[in-house]
Amino acid sequence: MKNFFIIIITKIITITLKIFGKNAGNLPGNLALKWDKDIFKYFKINGKIIAVTGTNGKTMTNNCIAQIFKDGGKKVISNLQGNNMETGILSTFIKNCTLTGKIKADYIILETDESYVPVVYKKLPLDCLIILNFFRDQLDRNGEMETLILKIQKFLEDYTGNLILNADDPNVSRLSKANPENKNIFFYSIDKCKESADELYEAAEGTYCPFCKTKLQYEYYQYAHIGKFKCPNCDYGEEEIYQLLTEISVDEGKFCIGGEQYKTKYDSLYAFYDLAAATAVAKLCEIPEDSVKNTIKEFALNNGRLEKLLINNCKTVINLAKNPTGFNVSLRMLQKDENKKDLLLVLNDNVADGRDVSWIWDIDFNNLCGVQRIITAGTRTYDMAIRVKTAGYPAEKIIPCTSIKEAVEKLYETENKKYVIANYTAIQNVRKEIKSFAKS
Ligand SMILES: [Zn+2]
Repeated sequence: MKNFFIIIITKIITITLKIFGKNAGNLPGNLALKWDKDIFKYFKINGKIIAVTGTNGKTMTNNCIAQIFKDGGKKVISNLQGNNMETGILSTFIKNCTLTGKIKADYIILETDESYVPVVYKKLPLDCLIILNFFRDQLDRNGEMETLILKIQKFLEDYTGNLILNADDPNVSRLSKANPENKNIFFYSIDKCKESADELYEAAEGTYCPFCKTKLQYEYYQYAHIGKFKCPNCDYGEEEIYQLLTEISVDEGKFCIGGEQYKTKYDSLYAFYDLAAATAVAKLCEIPEDSVKNTIKEFALNNGRLEKLLINNCKTVINLAKNPTGFNVSLRMLQKDENKKDLLLVLNDNVADGRDVSWIWDIDFNNLCGVQRIITAGTRTYDMAIRVKTAGYPAEKIIPCTSIKEAVEKLYETENKKYVIANYTAIQNVRKEIKSFAKS
């Protein structure tokens, strides 16, 4: 009876927040969990749960899977807004359940924060887990990356559901061995292409074999430590690939799967990995391929993840980056672009970003040719300004701003192409300022 009232009250809160134009991201779940820590048990779930986790690309992959399944005619419930911790997932359940706690959908697709995978799925029946990658991220919240991987590994030791893994990340593919009894393991990978490099040129984790500590040998790198690797000592890395993207043309947004050509609006290898994961799940759940191809062709997030805008005739690319790898990927896109360009970097240190911003020292700022000016903003605007100056970028071309509005105005003072890179709590503010600047 108590749970019945918890659901009623938190549903009322959800609806009230919605009336006032607010997204009930975490609050209803937070309250429900406070009132009953076993509230998850109240839900009667009728549908398969698919979870997406990993350091980078969760929202993009999750939302792409949700779109593929919807377009494939399935009823889908998902936390599309990216509220991916226990309270956010709970809020999604509260919003979508009946008063007696019934949740009915074909698929419940949940972006899940890495550190919450063991917490949430100890309580819920999980049908499929997708693990994208592991990079250093927000160290002060997650602790060392290795600790995090071991927590997920521990959870996987008795997990027998479907497990979809990035074969090209040695930190991820090692998890296939967590439970030798689990036969439902599927790998995805991307073939060698123009973007692939013979040598590693960014700070990287996981270059040693997790089983025998021998240095891994790479046939090629895609970005950071992602690539085709093998342990010369114990043969770790020779996995059978379930979903392989071939004939990659990143610039044209094209790739093939099993001879069938796919088109996408994205032109970054980084995004192609997310699409590889999403199409792997679709294949496993038997969504018709024609439908998947159509979804991939049209899919774009438009929420600051590789978002392209035309603002007062200036081409603008906005991307979220909350760790060195994400940043380096964005910088690589900019390096490939031969246009004159201005760069806006927005760095916040709110709790959700991680208070420790020392990770900016692991960003590779060495190649900024063609960048005419760098404007910085956010709560740590001066840290970012010092960071780019230390990398050797001329001080007179660095413009630190104390408000995002001011930064956006400065950014559009020239007609150069614009690149905007912002971290977690900064990205939506900067998008809003850019859009209102366009209208003014
Ligand atoms: Zn080995």
